Amino acid sequence: MAHCFLQVALDTPLNSCFDYRWSCEPGQEPLVGQLVLVPFARREVVGLIVAVKQDTEVPLDKLKDAIAVRSQLAPLPERWIALAQFAADYYQRPLGEVALPGLPKNLRVPKTVALDRALKKLAKDDSAHDPTPSSMPVLNPAQQEAANSIGGAQGFTPLLLYGVTGSGKTEVYLQACAQVLGRDRDAQILILVPEINLTPQLEGNIRARFPGVMLATLHSSLSEGERMLHWLAAHEGRARIVLGTRLAILSSLPNLKLIVIDEEHDPSYKQQEGLRYSARDLAVWRAHQLGIPIVLGSATPSLETWHHAQSGRYRKLELRERAVRDAVLPTVKLVDMERDRPKDGLTGSLIAALRGRLDRGEQSLLFLNRRGYAPVICCDACGWISNCTRCTAFMVLHRPEHRLRCHHCSLELRIPRHCPTCGNVDLQPLGRGTQRIEEGLAAMFPEARILRIDADSTRLKGSAQEAFDSVHRGEVDILVGTQMVAKGHDFKKLTLVGILNPDTALFSQDYRASERLFAQLMQVAGRAGRAGAASEVLVQTRYASHPLYGAVVRHDYDRFAASLLEERRQAGLPPFMYQALLRAEAPELATAIAFLEAARDSLVFDAVMINDPIPMTMTRVHNVDRAQLLVESASRPALQAFLREWVEILRAMKSRVRWSLEVDPLDI
Ligand code: ADP
Ligand code: ZN
Ligand code: ZN
Repeated sequence: MAHCFLQVALDTPLNSCFDYRWSCEPGQEPLVGQLVLVPFARREVVGLIVAVKQDTEVPLDKLKDAIAVRSQLAPLPERWIALAQFAADYYQRPLGEVALPGLPKNLRVPKTVALDRALKKLAKDDSAHDPTPSSMPVLNPAQQEAANSIGGAQGFTPLLLYGVTGSGKTEVYLQACAQVLGRDRDAQILILVPEINLTPQLEGNIRARFPGVMLATLHSSLSEGERMLHWLAAHEGRARIVLGTRLAILSSLPNLKLIVIDEEHDPSYKQQEGLRYSARDLAVWRAHQLGIPIVLGSATPSLETWHHAQSGRYRKLELRERAVRDAVLPTVKLVDMERDRPKDGLTGSLIAALRGRLDRGEQSLLFLNRRGYAPVICCDACGWISNCTRCTAFMVLHRPEHRLRCHHCSLELRIPRHCPTCGNVDLQPLGRGTQRIEEGLAAMFPEARILRIDADSTRLKGSAQEAFDSVHRGEVDILVGTQMVAKGHDFKKLTLVGILNPDTALFSQDYRASERLFAQLMQVAGRAGRAGAASEVLVQTRYASHPLYGAVVRHDYDRFAASLLEERRQAGLPPFMYQALLRAEAPELATAIAFLEAARDSLVFDAVMINDPIPMTMTRVHNVDRAQLLVESASRPALQAFLREWVEILRAMKSRVRWSLEVDPLDI
């Protein structure tokens, strides 16, 4: 029996590739892209074969034998490995840490029972493969032109579908999909949405439109069994449409022919821990690698995308009007809270507007991006406030649950009966969250059916979907919610949106705060009047003359984006500058800062600027202090070259400080 040597990528933080020996007849070697079970650190783990070799530099006495090759599974395509390799290089992580965690858990266990069962189940699937769509609505001319541009695009073509809320972007995607599926009998299409809660609505649309096409969904709330089946269906090329959240960008799609990224501006396309990748950016790379079109859809594109569209790198497709006949964009009004003083958080104008909707049997939505009852409680007698003992943050009052909760470290306490420092029994909630707004509404409108949708009210699996369904069925008069309700949903009977207290974001230190606030306000405003009835949006603010609100009132993304881009250009910020952020965590702030200072002084590099370390805005979380160091360059290749060297140096420091590097950070 002859030997070959397998170079195997494993999910380990430092060196991710290891050589193993495998006995096989010549010509019967395993294939690159196959999964293999190997011994590693006294365990058996699954790795990815990245090379098959006739010799190895590892001394024979150190070399271990691979245990089993998963030959029942088709190898991951070389192009998929190249994608993982690109992500690994770009985000400065080892290949194994990128390639393996994205696979279903059941593929990465020593036993193959689950894999074999799933393969058998899929093989039995003989559902029709007929890409003919069911009846399609007639598109308006702008939609038709957009759908044809996408469906007919050849080669790598990045397209921005810039369409106001309710302009029928979904219909454009579906008809472009129909063109691609109709033309190419193997074609696969990947559609990404920012929020898991948006998948059921779109999933329903896709299934109704393409009854003969296999659709697979990939998102974090699938069971392991489902995830395995769906992933395999994509990997085997059976699923022609794959719909998912950001993690789906790393799925294996051998015949990928079109990528759609809906609400491309949404921050949730950025993974915020571990491999901090941008699914949108990886998607553009993947489209480029494969030479296929990619559509980025939004009413409020990210400035990065907008910049590319303005410079001609991305092709811009515009939908300026709402799709449903007679539907127009809502009238946006600013309610000056200095003049119209709120009662229970609601101004007289908003209360009157709510009353009008109730009388007419229409739905209203109140948007407040703060869950809980009150963001903090305090003692008027001595000034005590409910700080978290582990974080630079307040403990939030959750009245229905009788709890104080820290939203950062999840510390939970009973609500104190009296002030912990002076004994005063009269502790006051300060400010308002969704629970308190809900309570005020119930007192004000006892006859109204009120529903709150936020992370607290939808903790149970399936409860978010049930809540959204009841809104669609018209069983809700007033919906109160956080950003969970702001995105994408097509609520047909909604004619009033009230936006409560968006002002804090105006004064944030984060330079992206205004871009985000604008997008969020346009999105939530866009939930109103989608079915045709006249609709209004009331924004309660203390800064009614702020230019951002002026732009929201005029629905004027173009001009607002132009002014933000000009500011960014002058200030030397993205997209005119490339950034990376080194973060460090330690029990004492000084330790973290000292590590970052050493990192700062460890490498000098042309065209790359290393700033001084600073504590993070929220310095302490869960008893750990956090600091960060920003690195900038006007050249992406220069920054990449710097980071490659720098990461080696940082690793070699072997510091006890926990550190992480983020490329293209969103939150600074
Ligand atoms: P967007 O994603 O751009 O906010 P949607 O795709 O949700 O908008 O479409 C908004 C509404 O318009 C939906 O109810 C949809 O069914 C409807 N719609 C889309 N295209 C057409 C069309 N060509 N004719 C009639 N209604 C349409
Ligand atoms: Zn007190
Ligand atoms: Zn905390």
